[in-house]
Formats: sequence, structure tokens, C-alpha cells
Amino acid sequence: MIAYKEVKSILNKHKKRDSWFLDDYSVNPYEGCGFNCTYCYVHGSKYGENLAEKIVIKKDAADILDRQLNNRARKDEFGFITLGSATDAYMQVEEQIGLTREFLKIILKHRFPVFISTKSALIKRDLDLLKQIDETAILPEDLKQNPGRGVIISFSFSTLDEKIANQIEAGAPAPQERLETLKLCSDNGFLCGVNAMPLLPFITDTDEELEKIIAAAKQYGANFIFIAGLTLFGNDERDSKQLVFKFLRNHYPHLIEKYEEMYGSVHYPSWQYQQQLKRRGDVLCEKYEIKNSIR
Ligand code: SF4
Repeated sequence: MIAYKEVKSILNKHKKRDSWFLDDYSVNPYEGCGFNCTYCYVHGSKYGENLAEKIVIKKDAADILDRQLNNRARKDEFGFITLGSATDAYMQVEEQIGLTREFLKIILKHRFPVFISTKSALIKRDLDLLKQIDETAILPEDLKQNPGRGVIISFSFSTLDEKIANQIEAGAPAPQERLETLKLCSDNGFLCGVNAMPLLPFITDTDEELEKIIAAAKQYGANFIFIAGLTLFGNDERDSKQLVFKFLRNHYPHLIEKYEEMYGSVHYPSWQYQQQLKRRGDVLCEKYEIKNSIR
């Protein structure tokens, strides 16, 4: 079901620049996401179990973005905009609606740099606009040398295993398709990366799985890779925490106890787990000569 809603503002300004993605702003052309990944933090009572059933298109969003970016540009407040921080800007409806493409035209007009993280091959449609943004965007002073680019494109993976992908992100494009789109973007000269997140404890965060993702990222032209574990929110049956436990009951019942130990009373894996994952990732990044950050 597609709904429309009026919004007054579309551009979110962060209090502080994100140290991973380097963005100062975010915009979301849609609410909800047609890919409906089980672990998605967007799940919750607002959307229900199925994010794809409640896609909301923001009316007049392009005009509002035009006005808001014009104001920011006049004050010389340039910074990376993440296009799609709580949705995938290239999910299925974008093919008909084209709001993401409209946003890109406005971003190009006002010369802002853009960061896009997606699972979709539809981004190929917009490489013409992205090329122009890459060449003309005005970067904040401290980002002019490094990364020194107006466009950063990243592809998200929780696994490369088609069977596991079908269990937990069946609505999203297949991992292999994402890798091939990454290659095409990289071959077209874009600064590209991989978001290896969320990795699922004991399922896709093993040394073997981690190495497969990092090796593939390198092979398909990624300049960098982000690695992060799973976060789980909410106690409502429609929240990601409950949906992931349902997935475990269906496919990995032997892991339920371990997940209860990890996430019983918290949203995030422990600091020790995160440090250990980072260390393992760093060793493999060094082995495959791929950066663990954009800069
Ligand atoms: S593609 Fe991203 S935004 Fe969409 S459901 Fe999956 S995790 Fe959520």
C-alpha cells in the first residue's frame, strides 16, 4: 500500500558529522522500505511487521528540499547528505515514482555532496546525475583533500550466502546482484564501498563468512568496507528484536540461548564483541588491502 503525506521539512541536519559516513545531513524520500529485511531497525509499531506494506511518499518533498538546500548553500553550509538513512532510496517504488532521482537533481543544482547506501541495482539508472554531482559538489574544507569526492556509494550486505539471504532479507536484491552493481559503479570511476552490516552473530560473523565478504568487496572494486554487528530493538512483535528471534526459531533454534545472552536486556552487542569483530575485520582488511574507513 502506498500512502502520501505532507511534510514541512525534509532535510535533517545532524548535530555532529557521522564519523563513518562523513555525512552532515540526511534525507529520506520515502518512509518504510520495500525490501523488508527482518533485522531492519525501521521495523516497529509505526510500520508493523511488513515495511513494504506501508510505503509513504512525502508530498512536495522535492520542492521543500530545493528550498532547504538553497538556504544552506547561501550560508555556505555544504556537507555530505545521506540519501536514504531510514529507507533504501532505490527500493521498488522508486522505479515508478522517481523521487530519489528528483532529489539528486536538486542536490546537483545546489552542489551538495551525497552518500548513498543501497542494496539495489536501480542506482545504475542515476549514474549520469551522480557523475555530475561527483564532479561539481562543494565539499567542506576538511574533506576537500580526502575523500575529495562528491559522491560515495556503498552497498550493504549481511551475508553473501544466498540461502541465508533468502531467510532474512528475501525481499532485497540478491547479494550477487549487489556485487555486480558495485563493480559497475566502481568501473565507472565512483568511490565505492561495502557496508558489511549487520553481521549476524554465529551465522554470518564467523571468520569464514567475514573473509568471504571482505575478499568479494575487494574483488568487485570497493575502496572501503564498514563492518558492524547486529542491533536489535523493541519488544513489540513487530519490532526487529522479535522478528529476528522468530527467524532464529524457524531456522537456527540452537542459537536462541546465545542470542538471549547477547541481547536479553540490551539493544547492542557487548563492547567486547564489537572490539573483537573490529579486530578480526582489521586483520582481514590488511590482508586484502582494503580500507576500513572512507578516508
Ligand atoms: S534495505 Fe535497508 S532500509 Fe530497507 S528494509 Fe533492508 S535494512 Fe531496512
